Amino acid sequence: MLLAGCHSGGAGGASGAVKPDIWTLYSGDRAFADVTALVDMGPRPAQSAALQKARDYITTEVEKAGWKVEKQEFEGDTPRGTMKFCNLIARFGDDKTTQQAIVCSHYDTKLFDTIRFVGASDGGSSTGALIEMARTLAQDPGLARRVELVFFDGEEAFVHFTETDGLYGSRHYAEVLRDSGRYKQFKFAILWDMMGPKNLTITLSPESPPALTGGILKAADALGVRNDFTFYHDDIYDDHVPLQHIAEMPAIDLIDFNYPPWHTAADTLDKLAPESLKVVGDVTLYYLRAQYPNE
Ligand SMILES: [Zn+2]
Repeated sequence: MLLAGCHSGGAGGASGAVKPDIWTLYSGDRAFADVTALVDMGPRPAQSAALQKARDYITTEVEKAGWKVEKQEFEGDTPRGTMKFCNLIARFGDDKTTQQAIVCSHYDTKLFDTIRFVGASDGGSSTGALIEMARTLAQDPGLARRVELVFFDGEEAFVHFTETDGLYGSRHYAEVLRDSGRYKQFKFAILWDMMGPKNLTITLSPESPPALTGGILKAADALGVRNDFTFYHDDIYDDHVPLQHIAEMPAIDLIDFNYPPWHTAADTLDKLAPESLKVVGDVTLYYLRAQYPNE
């Protein structure tokens, strides 16, 4: 789980002060503090007061780091009636044409009537980690302008995942990208979900796009964490699917789906480790830097 020493300086530039490799600036501890703040808000299902609190927290922290946050509000028909949702889209600067990569997470937690579900890994981990991603990227404005950070609402199904229940936020976001034609500027998307567990093993969906998957595994290899990545035995249905099928871009889901507390009251902070958040943060940053070495 620990990173092997990998300070090639390759991203530093040829002259003047050498920029640190961007991933070395990513703090698992800061990410974990954000996860803690979110989990402490309690269950955060769609349309709840706690989710509004989470929305305010994300917006404040990401804007503090220098990003602009667009609130993408919409309504969806759910088994519980018409619900209001709100995706948060963060960009570095006002120009909406510079972004070519998406890094995203859902920030809602699944609604349960019978248990207190706080979603430490499922909803909490990737959201806190994405806030720290905003802080890290902001230290490299050229790279930050290439990236759109998206916090999806309504990932969780109210009953069971079907074509019409679940993935409300990512379906809406992908439809807006498609209808505006803006989808064409994006080259790939990296989805984060359930990435907090101690002894992390990212379980990639077998249908992950080959080139993107190869690049992520290469990044993991370079950082000495290749053993933290494997393949799941079945396809994983998550927010990357609408990005692939509606917005027509390669999209990969970095998720640890072999997580016994999944969708139980036991998905709590004590199951998580800051080091796990950093593994996924580092690999993603390494991959982004490799795509844009000269930004
Ligand atoms: Zn879930």
